[in-house]
Amino acid sequence: MTTDVVNIFAPTPDRRVKRGWMNLRVAQVIHETPDTDTFLMVDAEENKRAFDYIAGQYLTFRFDEVADKPVVRSYTMSSSPCQPDTVAFTVKRVEKGLISNWLCDNVRAGSILRARGPIGRFCYDPAHDKKHLFMIAAGSGVTPFVSIMREHANTLGKKGSPEKMTLLVSYRSTKDLICWEDLNALRSVPGCRVIVSLSREHAEKEGFLYGRINESMLADTIAGDYADVTFMSCGPQEMMDLGRNHAISKGVAPEQFKTESFES
Ligand SMILES: Cc1cc2nc3c(=O)[nH]c(=O)nc-3n(C[C@H](O)[C@H](O)[C@H](O)COP(=O)(O)OP(=O)(O)OC[C@H]3O[C@@H](n4cnc5c(N)ncnc54)[C@H](O)[C@@H]3O)c2cc1C
Repeated sequence: MTTDVVNIFAPTPDRRVKRGWMNLRVAQVIHETPDTDTFLMVDAEENKRAFDYIAGQYLTFRFDEVADKPVVRSYTMSSSPCQPDTVAFTVKRVEKGLISNWLCDNVRAGSILRARGPIGRFCYDPAHDKKHLFMIAAGSGVTPFVSIMREHANTLGKKGSPEKMTLLVSYRSTKDLICWEDLNALRSVPGCRVIVSLSREHAEKEGFLYGRINESMLADTIAGDYADVTFMSCGPQEMMDLGRNHAISKGVAPEQFKTESFES
């Protein structure tokens, strides 16, 4: 075993964490798409970034006044852990969903939210992951990968980062592109690929694929490069199963395919 392998999940003296429920003040709301908002938050008391985290981790929020009894929901950070002043999460409205709609309808700059965390291991782990990080997402499932790509894009090939990153993500239409300004810009970073497929709009001339993520789309995007890849997938179970079965059928070790489900 090499001694320079760092356990990214181990607490370190310089990692800032807060115990218990935190009060977070929303500093800014960004309307990403007609049904998706990003909330940038600071520590309500200290007026600065509240805690450190690893890209891919999430917070558990507690809502005391939305229903008869407290309700909890989890949201993944979409910001880079290197972003100095704020922590962001991105919420897509779920049809008839209680909290996703409440957040998008009611939360404004100045609102206070209660959350605890960060928590989760759905992260790029330099100690165990391969050189190529291949991410497969649909809809709001893109949020952990936005954080991961934002963090590692400028350090590809350096200690603690993968050598290259590919994101294959599917949305309904060009109206649904989440955090698109940054993801689109990352396409010009050497070693970063962002491939988008649209399930309800033909926009091939603008460079989008058409259809839900399927086996041939996966095979075309991976292009035979199965040897040194770690897969991460977040989205509907069917899509994650498809990706996992495809990767395993090509000889990828099961532990090199990580998934996170947003549905309870
Ligand atoms: C670890 C984790 C991280 C998450 N990160 C994010 C994130 O970054 N951004 C984000 O938008 N959401 C995220 N979610 C989902 C989020 O926690 C809520 O489940 C989601 O916002 C719906 O809550 P709601 O109260 O609006 O819907 P509810 O009132 O709980 O549900 C309404 C209906 O929608 C269905 N439903 C619930 N969740 C989903 C879903 N995600 N997709 C499709 N149907 C669903 C339910 O089965 C139910 O029928 C995450 C979930 C987990 C477990």
